[in-house]
Order: sequence, then C-alpha cells, then structure tokens
Amino acid sequence: MTDARETELLQKVPDKLFIGGQWVEGTSGRTIDVIDPATGRAIKSIADASVADGARALDAAVEAADAWAATPPRTRSDILRRAFDLLRERKDEFALLMTLEMGKPLAESQGEVTYGGEFLRWFSEEAVRISGRYGTNPEGTGRMIVSQHPVGPCFLITPWNFPLAMATRKIAPALAAGCTVVIKPAELTPLTTLHFVALLEEAGLPAGVVNVITTSTSGEVSAPIIADPRLRKLSFTGSTPVGQKLIQQSAQGVLRTSMELGGNAPFVIFDDADLDKAVAGAMAAKFRNIGQACTAANRFIVHRSVADEFARRVTDAVNGFTVGRGTDEGVTIGPLIDDRAVAKAEALVRDAADRGATVLTGGSPITGDGTFYEPTVVDNVRPGSDILREEIFGPVLAITRFDTEDEAVQLANDTEYGLVGYVYTKDLARGQRMIERLQTGMMGLNMGVISNAAAPFGGVKQSGLGREGGFEGIQEYLYTKYTLTPDP
Ligand code: NAD
Repeated sequence: MTDARETELLQKVPDKLFIGGQWVEGTSGRTIDVIDPATGRAIKSIADASVADGARALDAAVEAADAWAATPPRTRSDILRRAFDLLRERKDEFALLMTLEMGKPLAESQGEVTYGGEFLRWFSEEAVRISGRYGTNPEGTGRMIVSQHPVGPCFLITPWNFPLAMATRKIAPALAAGCTVVIKPAELTPLTTLHFVALLEEAGLPAGVVNVITTSTSGEVSAPIIADPRLRKLSFTGSTPVGQKLIQQSAQGVLRTSMELGGNAPFVIFDDADLDKAVAGAMAAKFRNIGQACTAANRFIVHRSVADEFARRVTDAVNGFTVGRGTDEGVTIGPLIDDRAVAKAEALVRDAADRGATVLTGGSPITGDGTFYEPTVVDNVRPGSDILREEIFGPVLAITRFDTEDEAVQLANDTEYGLVGYVYTKDLARGQRMIERLQTGMMGLNMGVISNAAAPFGGVKQSGLGREGGFEGIQEYLYTKYTLTPDP
C-alpha cells in the first residue's frame, strides 16, 4: 500500500525521456511499469525508448559537446556543486524513491544518497584541477606540451542495485571533464535517475549535456549508439556477461570503455583476528543492500580454529534481522529485486546443501507478496559448490574453512573475478602480505565497507577495466595529447 507521501513523490518523478533539455515522449508510445519489489505492484509507468529515441539522445549529446567542453571548468564545477547541495537538501525524498523502486531499507537508501552525493562534490572539486605539463625534451631541441581534453560524447549504462550512486559515479566525472552524456539506467530502477536528472536541470545544466533514455530493450537500443562513430566512450556497470558483450561491440570502433563488472569477494578471517570486529564487518560486507552489491562478501574463508565461533555469532546476528518492506520502521532486510534473484539464491543454497553444507539458519524463499528470501547462513561449504563460483547477489552467508595462510590465499584467488577482498588479522606483516597476494582491485583490511568517492573503485581479472572515483576517476573521461613545439 503506498501512502500519501509516496504517491506525491511518485507523481513528481518525470515519466518521459530527457533529450536535448526537453522531457519528451518515446516515439514507440510503449511504456515500462516500474515495480515495487516489496509488494510486486506497479508504482509508475514511464516511457520505453526505441532505437530512434536512442539516436536522438546521441544527436543531442553530440550537438552540445563542443560548447560544454569549452565551458570554463569553474562553471562546470559550480553546477556539480549546486547539484550536490540540492541532493543533500532532498536526501529523504531520494532515499524514499530508491526504497520504493529497489527495496533496500530506508536507512540504507539514505546512506546511498550521502555516498552518491559525494561524487558530485568530489568531481566538482576535480573539475578545476585538470592540468598538463610543459618542458624541454631530453635533446634540448624542442618544448613538449602535454595537455588533457574531454574524450567527447559518452554512453553510460548503470545497474539497478545502487540506482543513484552508480549514476553520479559516472555523470559527475564526465561532466567535470567536459564530456556530454547519454545515460541508460536499468529498466528495473529508472526512477531515481529520472528524478536526479530533473535536479541537474534545476542546478543549471545546459540542454543536451545529459540525456536520459529508459528502455526495456537495452540491447537493441544500445547497439547502434555503441556503433556510432560520434560516440567516444562507453562506461558500463553491470554483470560480467553483459560487459563482455559490450566490449565486443566496442571493438568495432575501438571505443574507449570503462567496465565495472561482477565480483566474488573473499572475506578471510585469520585465527588472530578481532572476532567482534570481524563479525561486525562480515555482517556489513554481506547483508548491506540485501547482499546485492558487487562488493558483497561472497565467500567467508575462516581459519578452522575460529570458524565454529564465527558461524555461531553470525547466525545469532542473522536471526536478529527484521525482514520487510524497506519503508517500514525497524526493517533491516528488504526484498530481492525480482523472482529470478530469489530463484538464484534458492538454487545456490540447495546446491551447497546437496554437496554436504549445513544450513544454519534460513534457506528458503518467503511466500506472500514481494520477492523475499530468508537471510541465510550456510556452513562447511564444499569445494566445487556453485555458491563459491557465482555471485550470490542475495542475503546468504557461506562459510568454508582453511588451515594455512597459503591455503587462504589459494582459496581467495580461486575465481575469475577480482573486485575486492576483505581480510581480518591483527598481524600487520600478514596484512601487508595479503595486500600483495590477493588478486583484487580493492581491499578492506579489517574493514567491511570500503567505498568512498575519493578512492579509485574498480577491479582486475573479469571484474573489469578502469576506475571510478578518486583522482583516477576523471582520467577515464579525458584523453592526453602530446604536442612538440620548436625551441623558442
Ligand atoms: P546487468 O548486466 O543485467 O545490467 C546492467 C545494465 O546493462 C542495465 O542497465 C541493463 O539494462 C543493461 N543491459 C543489459 N543487457 C544489455 C545489452 N545487451 N546492451 C546494453 N545494455 C544492456 O546487471 P544488473 O543485474 O543490472 O546488475 C548487477 C550486476 O552489476 C552484478 O553482476 C554486479 O556485480 C554488477 N555491479 C558491478 C559494480 C561495480 O562497480 N563493479 C557495481 C554495481 C553492480
């Protein structure tokens, strides 16, 4: 049941495409129903973009590109900063909208508004620090100028699990660098992006700099945009299989790409770890976003001497969760995004149990409205189980045991993914060895949540290419030019 505040907010959210500074109907006349995963009911209908709409959006981004690239960095910075301030003022509104379309508990949505907003602030500060260098060449025969320039029109594709932060993490550095964009949010959670782009408009963003297409036919609408030689960059966050497909499509035009893909994070607990802190970190690393995060701890690799105690404590903590609609007071675990996500969690737990694991708590879908799965702990997961290989993307904590440091490293690295690893130990030297030995782009050393707008986020192996956030984040939207001039 939506209350009056929800209805009022949903009415305010645009239901059209945003192209060239105008809210426009899709040419197909089709619509997409956005579903509240906690109730299974449609909460709003929005335009479903066609291939022609995608082309129009790219036209608008191309048309606005030169003027935006020539806009003084301070002006670009000021717009991002205004957007940051507006977002902060409207934190509750954006949080509620995210909970309605994605399901996470309100407190977590508020956390995402803070995190997502920080990309606007960080890149408003970076916009004015784009620099180059000037110097004599080694032979002393000329002067070298190295300058940085916006890459040009970008296509941004985002997933459903962090509807705001995944959009700001791409839009903010692109705008700071002087690039125009077309953004395509996930069809399951498009409302937050539409609402956010209305905010950018209010912050003074010129027409055509950001264009939004929402579509139920992502592959069909995206392919011609990616193939268009006027597009200069594709930034994608989503699953590895879709990322692989998009890299193939990008090869044709040798398109620059950033790929933030899937993860299968190990969470390693050594025998000398502070167990209180390890349990607290584990709960955050596993159950934040109902386990639907690329950074979610997927495999708990625990030293045999502390594994029983760890399993007991996390089971107690899981039994203390309150499952329900994210808008309800006291709810700590919301629904999964859809039926497929529930079926996947169910299949992974069943496979683990069939191969000899013990389900300590949970282990079943919750019947009734919405798409809920019980928070679950599975212990003694056997080698070869699917749950060790695949992203769970649900509230399931899976434990395996190890005896030696070498074995822990071997288990942690035994995956094609390499996004993030978590390690708990009090031994500094061991922590340093783990930094060097874990094949991941990021690491939490005695920390269970590490994302920060000031840090370079990204993976190695099949978790992706490129970095978002930090000093590195803006580089993804700039190209470097070297010019040689004669000796003066
Ligand atoms: P997904 O790959 O199914 O979809 C991601 C986006 O791609 C959506 O907007 C979708 O509409 C679009 N898409 C799907 N097929 C497409 C195609 N053929 N052409 C163009 N676009 C297409 O992923 P998802 O289920 O939305 O998100 C979950 C995945 O995202 C997980 O694998 C998760 O690990 C990953 N993820 C990664 C990061 C990161 O920073 N590394 C962050 C969040 C999520």
